Amino acid sequence: MYDVTIMGSGPAGFTAAIYTSRARLKTLVVAGAMWGGQLMLTTEVENFPGFKEGILGPDLMDNMWKQAERFGAEMIFEDATAVGFSSKPFKVTVGSKVYEGKTVIVATGASARWLGLESETRLRGRGVSVCATCDAAFFKDKKAVVVGGGDTALEEALALSKFVREVKVVHRRDKLRATKILQDRALKDAKIEFIWNSTVQEILGKDRVEGIRLEKVGSNEEFELTCDAVFIAIGHKPNTEIFKGQIELNKAGYVVVNDTTRTSVEGVFVAGDVQDYRYRQAITSAGAGCKAAMDAIKYLEEV
Ligand code: NAP
Repeated sequence: MYDVTIMGSGPAGFTAAIYTSRARLKTLVVAGAMWGGQLMLTTEVENFPGFKEGILGPDLMDNMWKQAERFGAEMIFEDATAVGFSSKPFKVTVGSKVYEGKTVIVATGASARWLGLESETRLRGRGVSVCATCDAAFFKDKKAVVVGGGDTALEEALALSKFVREVKVVHRRDKLRATKILQDRALKDAKIEFIWNSTVQEILGKDRVEGIRLEKVGSNEEFELTCDAVFIAIGHKPNTEIFKGQIELNKAGYVVVNDTTRTSVEGVFVAGDVQDYRYRQAITSAGAGCKAAMDAIKYLEEV
């Protein structure tokens, strides 16, 4: 029996683990097969306080993992397959094993969104990607397209421009959602060009990406661009599939949070991108993980 079962291993999950294990609570982190969360797909993190020269995303997550382990948190690097929150102790199933905990902290984060095109699915891993950090090096001196107009899209474009010959950012409006600093950097980058008011109709190519077919918003005018890679960067969706029917979720699937970090089930707390669709920063997630841990510690003292 664990005092705290933490689901997820991004900044929220690992920070919660540091706090609960340091408070000498028996802590299990179900970290997932793809542990570390979205920062594992990032290069330089320049805005996490404490690293004046910046730090690589995977290094930051590695540090958080080791820090939690130092205080005795146990880790499982597999995905949870089911949860049982209707009675106590709470159950988290991982394959054939069931782990019981007095409290749970849900910190499963969010995942990249896809456009939903057949051609996108078919060509995934054959030029279609959601991670420039992972795949940009495969397209040295080639042509890439990035879809989206937020921070992620511009970060992808900037990461790609170090490798590829040209990057075209396709956005469905004529105004970017991204923060000013990233806009300035992208607009100044000679390799980055913007294709405004355009939506993706199809990614072209049989076995690998050869181009993209676009439509101008407001007209039926279609046009094609040749390219070797398409990076989809249109936001994220919460990883809450296994919580359906167990805790309250909102219409978009995010966990509903009641007053600080409490969910609809007493003893189940939540932190990070799985409930926060507004801030979604490593530092806000880490802060939320700390709060959830403190709420879980207080709850255990009171029951
Ligand atoms: P986002 O801010 O939600 O932006 C998504 C972009 O994709 C928007 O421009 C949106 O267009 C477009 N889009 C959405 N669905 C689309 C579709 N079906 N077809 C075409 N375009 C579509 O998501 P994000 O860029 O992933 O950022 C999420 C959060 O993480 C933000 O708070 C951001 O600040 C943060 N973030 C921060 C950093 C950093 O600080 N370095 C890095 C990455 C992300 P519209 O604009 O028309 O809605």
